[in-house]
Amino acid sequence: MAGYADEDLIPISALQHYLFCPRQCALIHVDGLWAENRLTSEGKVLHERSDTPGHRTRAVEDHGVRCVRAMPLVHRRLGLTGRADVVEFPLDSEGCPAGPPRPVEHKRGNPKRLDHDRVQLAAQAICLEEMLGVEVPKGELFYHAVRRRETVTIDAHLRKVVERTVDEVRGYLETNTVPAAKQEPKCRNCSLLHLCMPAATGLSRRPGQYLIRSLRISLDTEGSP
Ligand code: SF4
Repeated sequence: MAGYADEDLIPISALQHYLFCPRQCALIHVDGLWAENRLTSEGKVLHERSDTPGHRTRAVEDHGVRCVRAMPLVHRRLGLTGRADVVEFPLDSEGCPAGPPRPVEHKRGNPKRLDHDRVQLAAQAICLEEMLGVEVPKGELFYHAVRRRETVTIDAHLRKVVERTVDEVRGYLETNTVPAAKQEPKCRNCSLLHLCMPAATGLSRRPGQYLIRSLRISLDTEGSP
């Protein structure tokens, strides 16, 4: 299928970073910065099991579902790539496909008011649709804090948000743009807080430039009489 080449694919994770904060997305995907905090470390541990590629077939008579873990995903038209924690394929009593596949994404915290997790799931569903040539009308978010699944309908709104976010992220990547920092309450949960320095870099878009400028000022000061 015609579409974006491998080197032009955008990771699905970039959509979530962008929806959290466009600057965080650009620092990670344009400048190549990364840092862990407690929240990202907990998420990483949680995904270790599902990130082991392979198949696990539950007994058909028990659940009638085949689970594929860490399934690689791609959407050539949009230029998206990623991995689904789990994709469930419903089976009938003969072991034949019995309904559309559904992506299942594991999350460490609680269900969220904002749509970020749902958009990530919708991006996975859209990838599955192009790869498998089937409709994927629903997915599931499993929140470990409450040990509960939320069924998400992959509706027109979520599909539009995915397409719009991909366009916006691609715009930053193609123009090598890092937006200026804007200090907000969410910065407290951002793993890049100490690299971004939103309180200090308001006008300077890149933390590296801020550090160089600070160093120059400090050397000038030391050298002055
Ligand atoms: S610290 Fe705040 S402004 Fe900076 S990347 Fe994180 S959320 Fe965005």
